[in-house]
Amino acid sequence: MSDGHWSQGAGATDAGPRPRNEDSFLSAGPVHLVADGMGGHAGGAAASAAAIEAFRPLSQRDTLTPDDVAAAMTAAHADVLEVGRRVGAESGTTLTGAFAVEHEGQPWWMVVNVGDSRTYQLDGTEVRQITVDHSHVQQLVDAGRITAEEATYHPDRHIITRALGDGVDAFDAWLVPVVPASWLVIASDGLTGVVSASLIGSVAGLSDSPEDAAERLVEAALRHGTGDNVTVVVAHAPTTETPDHAVAEPWPLWPEGDDDTQSAAVRGPQE
Ligand code: MN
Repeated sequence: MSDGHWSQGAGATDAGPRPRNEDSFLSAGPVHLVADGMGGHAGGAAASAAAIEAFRPLSQRDTLTPDDVAAAMTAAHADVLEVGRRVGAESGTTLTGAFAVEHEGQPWWMVVNVGDSRTYQLDGTEVRQITVDHSHVQQLVDAGRITAEEATYHPDRHIITRALGDGVDAFDAWLVPVVPASWLVIASDGLTGVVSASLIGSVAGLSDSPEDAAERLVEAALRHGTGDNVTVVVAHAPTTETPDHAVAEPWPLWPEGDDDTQSAAVRGPQE
């Protein structure tokens, strides 16, 4: 549990049927993240662990800004590249999650994503996927060639188009208003590949704490026969709220995002 900060969270993980767990997570202070590593031998586990460790210093801070997060993303990218050099194999990792940040003096969730792990927002029974997968099947969906349902079963569903460690120092980010009753569910594809968004909402809805929700969701993935490592972090802000008058602008960090007043997708300076 992350105590003492306005955001609270907890995580759970299981190797599933795999011989080792290459996922990593961190839920402490204002930082709530999941990383799903890939690469031969120990490369995947080392990549996801290196990405997460780059955010450990931020987890001990009381206040974070979007710029702090962006700087840590660059450090994480460099650290994962270094893992590849050290193990002598291609390795990389997804990374997604939420940071409790202060922007223009107001509290916000800053949601980030690279790869195909996902961050969802739960409002009661309503489930919304905030992140957009960087994956081959997402590109097919965007092009109108397959449906989101078909993507779930597509033989190439595991091919991702972006990862930390791929040499492109860029990430997607959104500023999401903090709502006390709303929970964020952050998960690797070991969950999202076998448990639908609506079922994620139902299972989390049965839970009385982030810790309980994370454990129930990992169990649900195992029960639904996941073939992969499963990791889930659940975060919320029980006593904090983004005021109605607060706006996410000036945002994004870089000018290319398609934005509205409450959230924006941004990409790093190199894309
Ligand atoms: Mn996975």
